[in-house]
Amino acid sequence: MDRFPSLDPGRAREHLVAARARLDALTRDVGGAQLFGPKLDIVNPFLWELGHVAWFQERWCVRLRDDGTLGPSLLDGADALYDSSAVAHWTRWHLPLADLVRTRRYLAEVLGHVLDALDTRVEPRLVYFAELSAAHEDMHCEAFHYMRQTLGYPAPALDADAHRPTAGGEAGDAVFAGGEFTLGASPDSGFVHDNEKWAHPVRVAPFRMARLAVTNREFNRFVEAGGYAQRSLWSEAGWRWRTATGYEGPRYWRLTPDGWEQRRFDRWVPLIDDEPVAHVNWFEADAYCRFAGRRLPTEAEWEFAAQGSDKRRFPWGPAQADAQRANLEGAALAPVSAIAAGDTPEGVRQLMGNVWEWTASDFLAYPGFAPDPYEDYSQPWFGTRKVLRGGSFASPRRMLRATWRNFFTPDRGDVFAGFRTCAKGE
Ligand code: FE
Repeated sequence: MDRFPSLDPGRAREHLVAARARLDALTRDVGGAQLFGPKLDIVNPFLWELGHVAWFQERWCVRLRDDGTLGPSLLDGADALYDSSAVAHWTRWHLPLADLVRTRRYLAEVLGHVLDALDTRVEPRLVYFAELSAAHEDMHCEAFHYMRQTLGYPAPALDADAHRPTAGGEAGDAVFAGGEFTLGASPDSGFVHDNEKWAHPVRVAPFRMARLAVTNREFNRFVEAGGYAQRSLWSEAGWRWRTATGYEGPRYWRLTPDGWEQRRFDRWVPLIDDEPVAHVNWFEADAYCRFAGRRLPTEAEWEFAAQGSDKRRFPWGPAQADAQRANLEGAALAPVSAIAAGDTPEGVRQLMGNVWEWTASDFLAYPGFAPDPYEDYSQPWFGTRKVLRGGSFASPRRMLRATWRNFFTPDRGDVFAGFRTCAKGE
């Protein structure tokens, strides 16, 4: 990184404080055996992940010296416990972790140091790392949220916005003329991750994109038609996943004499037809598309739809996300027809919020990519993951913008992800 962008220390402070409030809300009731949970490759022990959030913030904002070496940690031996690049996943259940009280104290002490530093010595470098650690904490907040779903823990106690279906949420496609636009973040975008850098010209052919995300009702047609058993609808890798796991429908669905139900955290509730299908992986989204005679959008098409030729920061314009414009930083899914104020000018709804949207695209570096100081954020994952866009109801809204790229392997169905489709051909 040649030089650190000039960022607002007041905003960085707000982001850190807000991220910590959400972290507390998502984890404060977790205790006892829940702090460890089962050994799965898609979750971390809660206790480990809490310590890791503190360690990350301390490493970049407090301990990092000008010469690249690290000063001491407030917690003895922290590097051997919480460094995600160095501590193998499967060992995290067997480490001599700090207990919950000490871990929470570590979190609070580190944050206190960083806030003091922001008040007393404002350097671009410190503000950049404060923003990085706020974004990191926000991403772990979302991870805590979907880990609670994965493990069947109770829903966290969060304030929920009531989102109701709204008029004008029409099915069908919006038409985009395509053309050249710039994909990625520009240097005046404020804090961005290395994988968004930098805006570069891309040509997009004309395309038609669904105004709404695929709903449970629509996806259920595929399930009830036996789509999970039809080899011809699946990619080779997708069929391997399907055969190995034996899934016959989306995870967390079950058929009862009263109809389909869905597990939400620790409870089974009737499946809501008008909500977006969620917890489907890329293979399932891809197979559905084949069934429906549709295709997934590329990430360039998604960003073209979200930014328009005027390079909006958000699908609706420049204004920061709030509850009227996007279902972000909430507690539950909304119907796909809700939240009309977040539409793009073409009427594409909920591009941001509600569910992350799988795209057809592999997660690859943009031209001229160079890793930022946290080198393991993007670089190790290029070429092995698919891009998701837009954020979910569980994503803190301060974290996102239209250029944000999320990335998971195509078998991951535990995250709050669904998809929308595009028409095949023009
Ligand atoms: Fe992390």
